[in-house]
Amino acid sequence: MTLSGSAALAGVMGCPVSHSLSPRLHGFWLQHYGIDGAYVPLAVAPVNLASAVLSLPKLGFRGVNVTVPHKEGVITFLDTVSEVAQRIGAVNTIVVGEDRQLLGTNTDAVGFMENLKQNAPNWRSNFGPAVVLGAGGAARAVVAALLDAGVPEIRLLNRTREKAENLAKSFGRSIVVLDWDHRSICLSEAALLVNTTTLGMVNQPSLDIELDTLPDYAVVNDLVYAPLVTPLLDHAGLHGLTTVDGLGMLLHQAVPGFEAWFGVRPQVNDELRQFVLGTTA
Ligand code: NAP
Repeated sequence: MTLSGSAALAGVMGCPVSHSLSPRLHGFWLQHYGIDGAYVPLAVAPVNLASAVLSLPKLGFRGVNVTVPHKEGVITFLDTVSEVAQRIGAVNTIVVGEDRQLLGTNTDAVGFMENLKQNAPNWRSNFGPAVVLGAGGAARAVVAALLDAGVPEIRLLNRTREKAENLAKSFGRSIVVLDWDHRSICLSEAALLVNTTTLGMVNQPSLDIELDTLPDYAVVNDLVYAPLVTPLLDHAGLHGLTTVDGLGMLLHQAVPGFEAWFGVRPQVNDELRQFVLGTTA
């Protein structure tokens, strides 16, 4: 590992942060590309968020990733917030400019779409409606990405319907909110099903859904990556459908930050996947 006195610095700010895979992921790239840099976990309690963020330029940081619970709260301390982060309502990447200004953006939407393109290369946005389950932070990024890609209709279902309606209102167009109980019967003609709920995660119940009405060209994408093959993906695979797991989104969302901080656009490939899986499998 290369680490000199002038190493480029970045990290991940959260509370807690010990579970984050980001130091391992960025550490792999730093090593792989022989970069004089470090990416460190920064455990920052909410009460210290303002002083921690405003100290980044003073400490010489090139920037940070931001994770739970700071993704929304951090926005007020930034000089500029990108258009996509404003639409999603959350920042997951901060870049310190040469003028020491703090720019916030959100790379989850691009991470989602890059993962879909890499692992379901035959999917096209004009193939038909997308069904999105969930209306939390991850759903906002997925909806932003699907609208930007030109998906003609998004069917949005959430256990708490009001949250789905609020999400639909803030994005405005092409979103049809349906009752959570209709999740199996709303799949006909859908070209994509995305689970953005926590259902299927380790220690969480499985997602209860019937896939019989999904067309055979449909893609099923689960954002949950622990376990890597969720019961939903297992079920979809048995139906012969193309499946996309959540790990790729996690890897792809890290690319823009790494490039901005360390000056190299890193590759998401199988070697990286296997390395990161060493902690998640
Ligand atoms: P969040 O904001 O807390 O949203 C959680 C969502 O799950 C809400 O829509 C919630 O519905 C729903 N939910 C929770 N328990 C449920 C249940 N028993 N039945 C039905 N719905 C339930 O979380 P988030 O940040 O959006 O993350 C959601 C998932 O995506 C997590 O598993 C996270 O690990 C994953 N994720 C993955 C990536 C990636 O890179 N692959 C990135 C971001 C997130 P209510 O509104 O009704 O509570």
